[in-house]
Amino acid sequence: MTQPFIVAIDGPSGAGKSTLGRRLARELGLLYIDTGAMYRAVALAASAAGVDESDAARLTEVAHRARVRLEGDPDSLRVYLDGRDVSEEIRGEVAGRLASVVSAVPGVRRELVRRQRELGEAGGGCVLDGRDVGTVVFPSADVKFFLTAVPEARARRRLDEESGRRAGQTFEATLADINERDLRDATRDDSPLKIADDAVVIDTTELSVEEVFRRMLQTVRDRRP
Ligand code: C5P
Repeated sequence: MTQPFIVAIDGPSGAGKSTLGRRLARELGLLYIDTGAMYRAVALAASAAGVDESDAARLTEVAHRARVRLEGDPDSLRVYLDGRDVSEEIRGEVAGRLASVVSAVPGVRRELVRRQRELGEAGGGCVLDGRDVGTVVFPSADVKFFLTAVPEARARRRLDEESGRRAGQTFEATLADINERDLRDATRDDSPLKIADDAVVIDTTELSVEEVFRRMLQTVRDRRP
């Protein structure tokens, strides 16, 4: 069976992956899969079950048991954990930090990568955003992007995005958190964040969303049959 059309978007947090991934999916009429949301949901499940962060075996068990569902179109994607809508909760600080911890556990990754492949292969094509989509989940993706930006720009964007949700968050704390997560994502043994050889790299530091979107769309149109 031939694989449906797959667009992989990887990069560190705050580089614009989800904003652009959603837009691209909508424009191209493709499914949008936020793989980070799946790690965040597993992190919530682990936290609710009181699992120790260093207990890889139990974290793996939680990942196998958690029923994570992504529903809706790219602009109104809802995330369900065991039937409960956790779309807002997964964006909180606890889920974000813990997601980066649980995602370093090989057993957790194996299970979520398996589900991501299943989701991606089932539809009529999709855009997936994450850290390892072009390197591990779909190494034969039709188009691979690696979006990046200097840490200060990413921290500023995240702060703007979260201002409504978390009052009192400072720029320094956000930057420190971004740096800590980047380091963990880039240095873990299993599927570290890295640029696929055939990825189109876009540094979004000085670009508007519109400019990045146009470049990405053009790249996809050049390659899509
Ligand atoms: O993208 P987002 O910030 O929602 O992802 C949360 C965390 O999940 C990241 O910090 C990263 O550690 C992890 N992640 C991952 N692989 C993916 C997607 C996310 O390791 N494909």
